[in-house]
Amino acid sequence: MIEYVISPEPQVSLAVIGERRRFPVRRIFCVGRNYAAHAREMGQDPDREPPFFFTKPASSIVPEGVDIPYPPQTAEFHFEAELVIAIGQEAIACSVAHARDCIYGVAIGNDLTRRDLQSKAKDKGQPWDWGKGFDHSAVCGPIHPVATVADLSRGRIELQLNGQVKQEGDLADLIWSVDEVISIISQSMALRPGDLIYTGTPAGVGPMQVGDVVQISIDGLGAIEHTIVAPDARFQSTNEGSGTISIS
Ligand code: MN
Repeated sequence: MIEYVISPEPQVSLAVIGERRRFPVRRIFCVGRNYAAHAREMGQDPDREPPFFFTKPASSIVPEGVDIPYPPQTAEFHFEAELVIAIGQEAIACSVAHARDCIYGVAIGNDLTRRDLQSKAKDKGQPWDWGKGFDHSAVCGPIHPVATVADLSRGRIELQLNGQVKQEGDLADLIWSVDEVISIISQSMALRPGDLIYTGTPAGVGPMQVGDVVQISIDGLGAIEHTIVAPDARFQSTNEGSGTISIS
C-alpha cells in the first residue's frame, strides 16, 4: 500500500442517471468557440477555422445543486451553457466515424468564466487559465449514459437567469459536432476514461451576481439549477502584513 506525506484529495466524481455508481472525473477540455452566433458576439469570424481548446482542473467541478461562491478578482462573472461529453473509452487518433464508441455519456454544463480576466489575457496574448480554470468554474449535472440519449446532433439548449431566457441555441448549430470534437482532440492527446469535454456555448453569455439562480436545460437531458452565493470571505480579508498583492 502506498503511503503519502499529505492526504491525497478525494477523487472528483459525478452522479450517473439510473446508476448507484459514480463517474470519476479525470480532465476537463473545453472548446473555445463552437456556435457561430457566440463567435460573432465575442468579436470573431465564425468561419470554420480549426477549433481551439483550453482546460480546467478536475477540482473545479461543481455538481448539480451545489451553491457557487462568487469568485475573487472579477467584476464580470459570466455563464456559458454547454453540452458536456463524458469519455468512457480511450481515444487516440480516433476517426469521426468511431468517436461515438468512446462516449460514456453526456451532461449539462456551465463553463463559468471571469470574462474580464479572460479579455485581459486575450489582449496580452497570455494564457486563459485565470479567466477559465478557477475554483468552482466547471458546473456539471449528472451524466446520462449515451444509450439513453436519443440524439446528440440536435436539441434545444437554453439558459435562464432568474427565470429569464438569456441563452438559447440548438446542438445542430455546433460548428464542430460532438464526434468531430472527440476526433480532433484525440489527434493531439490520448483521451482517457473520465475525461470531460465542454462543447462550447451559444450566443447570449452574460454576467451573474450574488443571489442569482441559473437554470440550464437541454432537450432529453432535463435541467440543472444552481445559485450564486456570497464570495468566500477568506479571499477578502486584507491579511495586513502578509504581503497580499492585488492583480486587478
Ligand atoms: Mn465555453
